[in-house]
Amino acid sequence: MSRARPVVAIDGPAGAGKSTVTQRVAAALGYFVVDTGALYRTVALVTERAGIDFEDAEHVGELAEALVARDAVKLEGDPHGGSRVILDGADVSGAIRTQSLSQGASKVSAQPRVRAALLELQRSAGRAGGVVLEGRDIGTVVFPDAEAKIFLTASVEERAKRRFEQLVAAGSDADIESVRREVVERDQRDSTRPIAPLRKAADALVVDSSQLSIDQVVARIVAHVRDVASKLGSG
Ligand code: C5P
Repeated sequence: MSRARPVVAIDGPAGAGKSTVTQRVAAALGYFVVDTGALYRTVALVTERAGIDFEDAEHVGELAEALVARDAVKLEGDPHGGSRVILDGADVSGAIRTQSLSQGASKVSAQPRVRAALLELQRSAGRAGGVVLEGRDIGTVVFPDAEAKIFLTASVEERAKRRFEQLVAAGSDADIESVRREVVERDQRDSTRPIAPLRKAADALVVDSSQLSIDQVVARIVAHVRDVASKLGSG
């Protein structure tokens, strides 16, 4: 299907700066953000609230399918880079950002039924174009036909440091060593799961943010998307 404006896929490991970069790129272009990790985090939140183990494939699968069937989860974006996740009418954007739900999201997302349940939701959120989707498998599985694909990465040390600073800023008393372990563990699980593992799409532009400022990363991606968009005739 040809789109007037591109679908931009930004994939990469935890802590590479995807959320900030995605918001800034979307704001610069006037595109909408689709934070796909927020969907997996919301499934983890509901799992936790229901007292179900994150690795209980059957019950977590049922729960994810039920959430989608009753249209309980909504991603709300705006053209200024904002994005919120709404669960049964309540804004859970803050509640899903705990360390426990980071691990929980990584566990529930390894389950095929959960991924299948969330797939169409992500596709319908992005299909029209003019969107930046951030995740792990956007360029490989959700939108293999995305016009612009970016694989955003950084060294483990840099990613752990950033994650730690984010958690501290949010008022958590996390320690850097446990955050580092969490980042390594999550990478390992996300990259080795049998279904939709984290990996670079063959046609993705790789941006390593270890030695770049956020401004430099954003500028590089925005330039790439503008170039792609101009070839679609939308400038
Ligand atoms: O990006 P974020 O840290 O919010 O993602 C939480 C978890 O959700 C990731 O560790 C990953 O396991 C999972 N995820 C995924 N596919 C995506 C987005 C996130 O498996 N497209």
